[in-house]
Amino acid sequence: MVYVKPSRREDFEIVIICGLPLEFNAVSLLLDEYWDEDGDHFGRSPGDVNHYITGRIGRYNVVLALLSHIGKVHTASAAASIRSSYGSVRLALLVGICGGAPQAANGEEDEILLGDVIISRTVIQYDFGRLYPDRFIRKDTLEDNLGKANKDIRNLLITFETDIGLERLQRRTAYFLKQLQANATGRKRQGRYSYPGTAEDKLFKSLYRHKHHVPCTCVCRDCNSISNPVCDEALSLSCEELGCDNLYLEHRGQLDAKRQLEQDKSDKAQEPTIHMGSIASGDIVMKSAEDRDRIAKKEGVIAFEMEGAGIWEELPCIVIKGICDYADCHKNKRWQNFAAATAASTLKAVLERYIQTDKNRNEDLDPLERDSITQGASWYDSEVRGEDVTQGNELRVSSPQSSRHCIVQEGSYFGGVIKVAGSVVQGNRMSI
Ligand SMILES: [Zn+2]
Ligand SMILES: [Zn+2]
Ligand SMILES: [Zn+2]
Repeated sequence: MVYVKPSRREDFEIVIICGLPLEFNAVSLLLDEYWDEDGDHFGRSPGDVNHYITGRIGRYNVVLALLSHIGKVHTASAAASIRSSYGSVRLALLVGICGGAPQAANGEEDEILLGDVIISRTVIQYDFGRLYPDRFIRKDTLEDNLGKANKDIRNLLITFETDIGLERLQRRTAYFLKQLQANATGRKRQGRYSYPGTAEDKLFKSLYRHKHHVPCTCVCRDCNSISNPVCDEALSLSCEELGCDNLYLEHRGQLDAKRQLEQDKSDKAQEPTIHMGSIASGDIVMKSAEDRDRIAKKEGVIAFEMEGAGIWEELPCIVIKGICDYADCHKNKRWQNFAAATAASTLKAVLERYIQTDKNRNEDLDPLERDSITQGASWYDSEVRGEDVTQGNELRVSSPQSSRHCIVQEGSYFGGVIKVAGSVVQGNRMSI
């Protein structure tokens, strides 16, 4: 199958957004083709400061955008810029890492482990509301909250709510994770995206503090309850340096199962579980197990992140995030690259299942104004894609040379394959 490079920004309908360079790096390893290898052809709108690369994943042309700042206000304005540069975007996928809320699980089957992936059913802006001296009241009337996903997105997500849909998604995610790891090895980044191992997946009991457990003279010595402070030094040290004790780890059955796979040297040990659920989005970096559990219970969320709310307001969006920590005081960066890789792999698996609903015919432009597709090269039986390619369209080929063969279209659907019979040569223009 040969794919034609898009000729302009309007040809891109899918944008993948990352908040961090490490997330961007992981996604970029799963592009099947880059459209800007020899320089950028597409430009951007005035005022747009996002960094973009363009390419293809499967049958979709994608723009990969890296945000320059985090936080909701910056993210929303970056999303607005994406919309102004890429006005035809129909689906935004926010892909990267997040903190998990492991206690939200209903029993062992739902346990959330590091490296697992969350797909957003909804995004909840948990820090939006009024803070009173004794309590915080979240604004949760319909208009204050984020709206629900559009029909395209709801149709896609519903397939992952079924057992077979979820199984397929997990199987393909595992496949793409290996592909990403192999691509990384090929680019001399071997090991960066390896599974860190079950021994590194530590969920401490909620009340167990990240503080000096080794003998010391700081305030940590008197820290016996959740309201007591720990010393500043402890905030920047690792669990190993502080002596956080594995005796206080929560026991989790899913982790035991993975440990067995590890002992059997099975590469299934690294395969993430995908969880569908609500994601809490806010400007606060969650580093407290107590707050995490309280908010998870109250809002019914299974993960915490910081860009979702800003994107969700501006673009039709799905959030796909790999769990890199448990949003508690013990958190560290060890799982970030792996979690970014599992999220990127799920993104690619999700795109395989994405079927766009045909655009409303009445919204279409005058047929003569429809997309014309410039083919940079020529092929028989080539795949051509463009806006508004629907069943029954006719394909005409115009040529600077004298009249060429007649073109017969054997079938087409939106974003699909149009078979072109005849001699299509370099320099031909095709219009639909
Ligand atoms: Zn100390
Ligand atoms: Zn201390
Ligand atoms: Zn610790």
